[in-house]
Amino acid sequence: MQEKAFLPRRDFLKYCAAFPFLIRMAGFEKDYIHTVKGQIKPAELGVTLIHEHVLVDFIGADKISPDRWNHEDVIKKVLPYLLEAKSKGIKSMVECTPAFLGRDVVLLEKLAARSGLNLLTNTGYYGASNNKYLPSWAFTETAEQLAKRWTEEFNNGIEQTSVKPGFIKIGVNDGHLSGLHQKLIKAAALTHLKTGLTICSHTGPAVPANEQIEILKNLNVDPAAFVWVHARGSREEFVKTAASGCWISLDGINEENAAEHAELILFLKKEGFLKKILISHDAGWYQPGEPDGGKFRGYTAISEKLLPVLKQKGMNDAAIEQLMVLNPAAAFTVSIRRH
Ligand SMILES: [Zn+2]
Repeated sequence: MQEKAFLPRRDFLKYCAAFPFLIRMAGFEKDYIHTVKGQIKPAELGVTLIHEHVLVDFIGADKISPDRWNHEDVIKKVLPYLLEAKSKGIKSMVECTPAFLGRDVVLLEKLAARSGLNLLTNTGYYGASNNKYLPSWAFTETAEQLAKRWTEEFNNGIEQTSVKPGFIKIGVNDGHLSGLHQKLIKAAALTHLKTGLTICSHTGPAVPANEQIEILKNLNVDPAAFVWVHARGSREEFVKTAASGCWISLDGINEENAAEHAELILFLKKEGFLKKILISHDAGWYQPGEPDGGKFRGYTAISEKLLPVLKQKGMNDAAIEQLMVLNPAAAFTVSIRRH
C-alpha cells in the first residue's frame, strides 16, 4: 500500500521513463523473498552475495551436533567479516550451508540482527562428497517423503523456529547422477512445485547439471528455477547449459582468480546470458573443532578485485547492477516456475 502512495501514478510513470530499472522492480511488487528475519520485497534485497557460508562443520551427518560450536565464539569471529562486506555496500547474503553440514538458523538470526544484513537460509540435503552429509533417512525415504519434510520447513519453520528457508539447497557428485542423487533432485522439484523456492544444487561440471535439468523438465519444473552451483566447464558447455534458462553460479571468486572470472563473465555477457549470471565467493567457513574456527575467508574480493576489472573492461553501471542486484532478486523471488 505504501508504495502506491509513494508517488501519484503520472509522476511514477515519468520517473520510470527516467529510471527504466524501476519498471522491472515494479513488476516484483507482490513478490517476496524469505530471509531469516522474515519476508522482504525483492527490491529490498539490494547488492547481494548469492553463495557464502558462515559456519561449515565437516564432521559428517552421523556426528554433527549444534553443541560442537558456541554462538558467541562464532559471532565474535564472523561478525567483523559481515560488517566488512556491509561497508563495501553488500546488503544481503545467501548462506548456503545445508542441514547436517552446520546450518544453524538461530545463529543466522543473531548475525542478521547484529550485522543488519539480510541472510537467507535453506532446506534440502547435500549428497555431494559421496553422501557423507546425508541423514540416514535420506537413503531410505522416497523423493515424496523427503519433499514433504522440506516443504514442512517452508510452511512451519526450521527446527522449532519461525525461520523459513529462502531456497532449496541440494548437492550431487561430479559425474553422472546416481540413483540417490536423482532422488534428491526429484525431491527438490516436488518441493519447488509446492513452495516456489529456487533450487540451488552444488554440482560443478556440466554433465550432472544437464542431467538435473532434464529431470526438472520431466517433472514440469522450468530450468529458470535451477541454480547451477559451482558451474564449471568449457565455454561451449557454458553456452549449451545456459541455453536451458538455468542460473549460472560463478561462486568461487577470490583475489587470485578475479581476472579469470571477469573474462568468463564478459564472455557470457557477449553470448547474451548477462541476466542469468550469479556471482559470489563461497567464502567464510568458520570450522568447529579448529582453533578459533580455523582460517576464515572474507567476503570482499568481488568488490575489491572483480568489479574494478569488469569496469575497466567496459562493463557499465547498469550491467553491474544487473549482476549484483537484479539477478539475485530475480533468482531468489519465491515463485513456482513450471516448464
Ligand atoms: Zn558453498
